[in-house]
Parts: sequence; structure tokens; C-alpha cells
Amino acid sequence: MNEEELNEMIIKCPACAAEGVAKSIMKEIEIPHFGKVLETTIQCPSCGFKHSDIIALEQNDPAKYVIEINKNNLSVRIVRSQSATVSIPEVGVKVEPGPKSEGYVTNIEGILTRFESAVKKALNLFDDEESQINAKKTLEHIQELKKGNETATLIILDPFGQSNIVSEKVEILEIPEEELHELKTGFSHIENK
Ligand SMILES: [Zn+2]
Repeated sequence: MNEEELNEMIIKCPACAAEGVAKSIMKEIEIPHFGKVLETTIQCPSCGFKHSDIIALEQNDPAKYVIEINKNNLSVRIVRSQSATVSIPEVGVKVEPGPKSEGYVTNIEGILTRFESAVKKALNLFDDEESQINAKKTLEHIQELKKGNETATLIILDPFGQSNIVSEKVEILEIPEEELHELKTGFSHIENK
């Protein structure tokens, strides 16, 4: 993966409105067998706000990407645009696009790590025993997948075809019309308080 820093700008922070401290960094990332992706990261040292987004420079059709998570696929490159829904049905985890969702380039292991920290956060919020037990089971399942001890299915649905699983083992399917209507798109906007 080649990265090239294109542009760094000082901007007004979209979260706390501080002037002259927040940075917007634009990077062009070349992903083999996929193409170029533009990554923008905004960071504010004043309030800690951080947001990343990616734009694939080549637009594709709406698509459903499916791959098996197993010990040989953990390093498979993943491009997740902020309009994509990512799920692992066997584990019962799903992330849908929303105003705060981010676009990023990672690999399958990185996706598992993101789910792992989301479940850990949830674990701290639940106080009833049943939810605690369920969250712990989910956490263990994710950790076993990370170690390559188990297999499951990773599904990425992207109504704008901006995401990708970069592997010859990926199955690319059309999104059925009904499913397409139900998908959240999480259109890009930064929440202003
Ligand atoms: Zn700020």
C-alpha cells in the first residue's frame, strides 16, 4: 500500500469551532487491485475531535461483498466507505452507516479489532447479567476469529459500490432491490453541536 500525503490544512474545528488548531490531512492511497482512495482525516488537539473519511476515486455499482473469515484471510485488505454496512452474521455484529461512521482502509483483522472494541464498550454499559453474558460470548467469538481458530462470514453491503474486499476469494453479488431500499446510507455530514 503506497501512501502519498497530498495536502495538509489548518481549519476551523467542526466540533468545537476553535480557530487555527484543527488539521485536515488529505492522503492518496494506492491499493493494489482496487485503485486509488482519497483519505481525509480531521484532527483537533483542542477538543480531541477526530474524523476520517475515504472516497474511492473509481465509482462502482451497488454491491454486496462476501468473504470467509479464516486464518488465511486475516490480512485481506478491506476498504470500508462510510456508506457501507459491515456485518458478521455468525457473531451477530453489524455496523451501519450513520452521521458518525467513518470510512477507512484496513484488513479483516482490523475489522475484527473494531468490533472487539465496540463490544468491550457495550460491555461496560450493560448492567444486567444476561446482556453481560451475551456480550462476553460475542467478545470471545471475535477473539477466536482473530486468532484464526474459527471461521465466519464477513459481509459488506455498499449502495454506492465504494467499498471493497481486495481478494480473489471475495464473492461479489448484486444487492437485491428490497435490501437496497432498506440500507442506511449515512450521508456525509459532520454533526455540529
Ligand atoms: Zn475541536
